[in-house]
Amino acid sequence: MTTKAYGATAADKPVAALDIDRRAPGANDVQIDIAYCGVCHSDLHTVRSEWPGTLYPCVPGHEIVGRVTAVGSDVSGFKVGDTVGVGCLVGSCQHCASCDEGLEQYCTNGFVGTYNGRTADAPGHTLGGYSQRIVVDKKFVLHIRHPQEQLAAVAPLLCAGITTYSPLRHWGAGPGKKIGVVGIGGLGHMGIKLAHAMGAHVVAFTTSESKREEARKLGADEVVISKDPAQMKAHAGSFDFILNTVAASHNLDAFTTLLKRDGTLCLVGVPEHAHPSPAVFNLIFGRKAIAGSLIGGIAETQEMLDFCAEHGIVADIEMIDAQGIEAAYERMLKSDVKYRFVIDTATM
Ligand code: NAP
Ligand code: ZN
Repeated sequence: MTTKAYGATAADKPVAALDIDRRAPGANDVQIDIAYCGVCHSDLHTVRSEWPGTLYPCVPGHEIVGRVTAVGSDVSGFKVGDTVGVGCLVGSCQHCASCDEGLEQYCTNGFVGTYNGRTADAPGHTLGGYSQRIVVDKKFVLHIRHPQEQLAAVAPLLCAGITTYSPLRHWGAGPGKKIGVVGIGGLGHMGIKLAHAMGAHVVAFTTSESKREEARKLGADEVVISKDPAQMKAHAGSFDFILNTVAASHNLDAFTTLLKRDGTLCLVGVPEHAHPSPAVFNLIFGRKAIAGSLIGGIAETQEMLDFCAEHGIVADIEMIDAQGIEAAYERMLKSDVKYRFVIDTATM
């Protein structure tokens, strides 16, 4: 089925209108009319080949919400008209140790990303949510239980939400824990909301003075301007866990020094250029860890969506037309996002 989409034909070409083909739904497929798609910094890294391996044409987008328009003969959990979401994953081997535990994002045979993943469909790699329609295996489709009028603001939960929820849960964010969130963009603003809802004491770290007051409204108990050494020093040795979402290379020692004994600095940002090597002294004196975390599995993504519906949590969004994607990228690069751009696919 010919479907309107937005994507780029090369790293140095802008994201523009193009037609793509979607497969007819197979027995296990769910066909979805996409209503909204969030704009993740990973979209920009990928479409501009900041990370290796981008295949063109590249149609980004993995924060997808919409309505079911057809289901295959073996699909029972979804029906036409259901409001659903699709995140960063559309396939995995389903038989490795990670898949068995519902951790498809760590599939040892390689998960299939919603874009730039391998597929038998033309053109040989997956094309994402900057489009009006998608066909996805039922195992990778999520139920959305938020009120309909919040649908656009639910879209960013499918990546920014789960990427922050999963490590916060894994490292035990909750009452009595002091949690830091570094970089208040799409991921970071969700990290603040979620850690706050989990009952932790939340400290936001930002380089943008203009986000100080807003970070408190998002749920931060304290806000630190990370460029100010005096403000940073006041928190030395006090954090159980720090979630770092920054999309650019920077000095990690500034944050490892803020951890308590046995504390963890978890990196989720994936900058184009490597961070400077961290100082070992900061880690061994205090048995501190630097870790990483990748999105979340399907079961945990559903758990996160239900947690957010229950707690009335959605993203703070700025709606854009498809024609405004490149301008949104430029603002993203200037940290000028409050806090997630969402594409209205009707504008395609
Ligand atoms: P974003 O909306 O652009 O937010 C990133 C924030 O980082 C900015 O708003 C800014 O916050 C801060 N920042 C940017 N440049 C900085 C610099 N030079 N120094 C210090 N702080 C800086 O990006 P996003 O969509 O949240 O994504 C963040 C990163 O996570 C990207 O690299 C993305 O690819 C990655 N990601 C990873 C996963 C995963 O599974 N691990 C999933 C999704 C995305 P302030 O203004 O507050 O300083
Ligand atoms: Zn993403």
